[in-house]
Amino acid sequence: MHGVLIRLLDTGHMNRLRMMDSIAENLMVIQQRVKGLAKNSKEPLLVAVSKTKPVEAILEAYQAGQRHFGENYAKEIASKAKDPRILSSCPDIRWHFIGHLQRKAVNKVVGVQNLFVIETVDSPKIAEALNEGWKKKKTAEKLKVMLELNTSGEDSKHGFKADEVVEAAKFLKENCDQLRLTGLMTIGSATNSLQNVKPNPDFLTLIDCRKRVSEALGFNPDELELSMGMSHDYEHAVEMGSTEVRVGTAVFGNRPYPPNSDVGDSEVNQRDSPGSSGEETAKRFAHH
Ligand SMILES: *Cc1c(COP(=O)(O)O)cnc(C)c1O
Repeated sequence: MHGVLIRLLDTGHMNRLRMMDSIAENLMVIQQRVKGLAKNSKEPLLVAVSKTKPVEAILEAYQAGQRHFGENYAKEIASKAKDPRILSSCPDIRWHFIGHLQRKAVNKVVGVQNLFVIETVDSPKIAEALNEGWKKKKTAEKLKVMLELNTSGEDSKHGFKADEVVEAAKFLKENCDQLRLTGLMTIGSATNSLQNVKPNPDFLTLIDCRKRVSEALGFNPDELELSMGMSHDYEHAVEMGSTEVRVGTAVFGNRPYPPNSDVGDSEVNQRDSPGSSGEETAKRFAHH
């Protein structure tokens, strides 16, 4: 073992060694950057996005001290959460569901042990379904949820439009007694992120949404999380006041398939929510 390592160092393969950074090292570097850039006294939460990654990778991150993990697919989060290795080695794991959720998958997700929050409530319909699903569990605690905002206005993205956010928050308050709104979440446009547009307009939109929801519903803005920032833009997101970054690739390495592909889960690309006219919006919020 040592002989091999010394030979690599001797022959100047430092770059190769660097490419083999471990999950633990990646987490440490990201955590330090987040800490260094954080504006608030409260350090932003780092959620390690483990979608498509094996249980072994989650165990390694957990052993390095990581507790919050994000998953996108109902089947995958359900099977990982009940994996015997996770159950025995990760008693304090906290699962964040961050994918598009369909009604038929609600029970699977609310049944996840150590479910921490659903970040992707993107329609009144799914809020009601979660409310019903959680009610059946007869838990004293409410289910924590965030509203997902489609801040970039792209058709390919899910989420409420910025001008629907107050109505969506009111809908939760009035119709979903099992849910507790803990924040707002967005992905934002990949172009803004990759081209390093600063300040990122999608993040500005999310910040503005939080302000409006706080005013309309009487929250202190600090009570609402801002879940924004991924591998390519988490540093900028933290500079802008993000309180939660969701980082996958920079922790675990590249994924076998891109986030928006529907390989492995047919739920990903089916849209069922848009509605651009005011009338359609009103219909969406009508409570049955
Ligand atoms: C996949 C995913 C992430 C992580 O993306 P990376 O670019 O790999 O960091 C974060 N948030 C959501 C909603 C995702 O689907």
